[in-house]
Amino acid sequence: PESPAPTASLTARSDALFKRAQQVIPGGVNSPVRAFKSVGGSPRFIARADGATLTDADGQNYLDYIGSWGPMILGHNHPAVRQAIQDALPFGTSFGAPNEREVLLAELVTRLTGTEKVRFVSSGTEATMSALRLARGFVGQTEPGRKYTLKFRGNYHGHADALLVEAGSGLMTNATSLGGAAPSSAGVPPEYAALTLVAEYNDAAGLDDLMAQRGHEIAAVIFEPVVGNAGVLIPSADFLAALHRVRGAGALLIADEVMTGFRLSLSGATGLLGLEPDLTCWGKIIGGGLPVGAYGGRSEIMDFVSPLGPVYQAGTLSGNPLAMAAGLATLTELERDPGIYTQLERYTAALGAGLSDLAAQAGVPITVNTIGSMLTAFFLEGDVQHYGQAARADTAAFSQWFRAMLAGGVYWAPSQFESIFVSAAHTPADLDFTLSAAQSAFTHLK
Ligand code: PLP
Repeated sequence: PESPAPTASLTARSDALFKRAQQVIPGGVNSPVRAFKSVGGSPRFIARADGATLTDADGQNYLDYIGSWGPMILGHNHPAVRQAIQDALPFGTSFGAPNEREVLLAELVTRLTGTEKVRFVSSGTEATMSALRLARGFVGQTEPGRKYTLKFRGNYHGHADALLVEAGSGLMTNATSLGGAAPSSAGVPPEYAALTLVAEYNDAAGLDDLMAQRGHEIAAVIFEPVVGNAGVLIPSADFLAALHRVRGAGALLIADEVMTGFRLSLSGATGLLGLEPDLTCWGKIIGGGLPVGAYGGRSEIMDFVSPLGPVYQAGTLSGNPLAMAAGLATLTELERDPGIYTQLERYTAALGAGLSDLAAQAGVPITVNTIGSMLTAFFLEGDVQHYGQAARADTAAFSQWFRAMLAGGVYWAPSQFESIFVSAAHTPADLDFTLSAAQSAFTHLK
């Protein structure tokens, strides 16, 4: 297909579309951070995506570091993924009945991750929400008093009521509009939020203390094994050990690998870090760019879900054949060429080192956290290991830098509190282009 012809004004069509969108869609977007509210300027409407390039409605090209917020690890419009969708398409788009591709993807996910059973849903939010219900139901059969969930400040697990408590991602980005000190959401009754306890990420002693006091009331501890939603936060070894101790207190450990699953390794962050959760949630990459989520664990727990067990969970589009096809092709490609992970890590480390050097040369304090293909450049000085430290970032400086990067043709995540993603489609020339744009952006920061 043809890309849109460039317009004289660089944003005329995007601006016009945004104006129309705001008439019929709240804020003009279907997910908040897309609106560029915290970084300023109006969002680009994307007309096509290919490899590492986004082309907007005005025919402008951008080097993409969002990758649709995670799914596009192979790059956009990857031939194998596109072919898989095309192969599935003539056979129908949704059956509301079991299909072979669900079995194939479940077999692949369980084999690669060492999980026994998975249930597919249509988003990461559904995955975490369902895993939480299952954990409460499963633990509650013998200990009904365990009603509480524990999560970590700045971790984001989607937008289900119980998990919109001290959440990261868009809630951290748009915190000022939410009125309270702790980012949360209107419309979540305090009675619901009261069932979610919050601890500090990377604080092993704090977690141990909380478990000692309240452990007997807690059904599950849910966590991002590597955080992407407060910007990138890397777990410390003692924090990982404290997470494992949670199980000794009788709570289930739920790893939210919606972002990290199949991104940090074929067995996710948990495989990389040697964590053994009771339940794991996935999304993003396992759908290859189409809407999918999944949760899984030992059969003993998973068989507690309906129709076998008393925990109800269902979905009209769950196991959608096109989404299964895209996910299968993506995971198959990653398994066929595990060298992809080595390359992603190398490129991301090089990008991080380059950004650190350029910022230092320009006298701009930044701290870069990277792991695998995930990277956040925090505009602050000093270590960033938890939410409180991340929240001190100079968001005004970041926003100015973001706008300069965009003007230079690089589409960074439009928030200080997000990870960017390097994809298999990025090349060394792309990294040079990015660093050259970054140099100019750092130099012109006022
Ligand atoms: N969990 C994590 C770790 C995520 O990063 C996200 C989305 O960014 C979600 C859950 C929610 O997934 P979805 O947006 O597909 O509902």
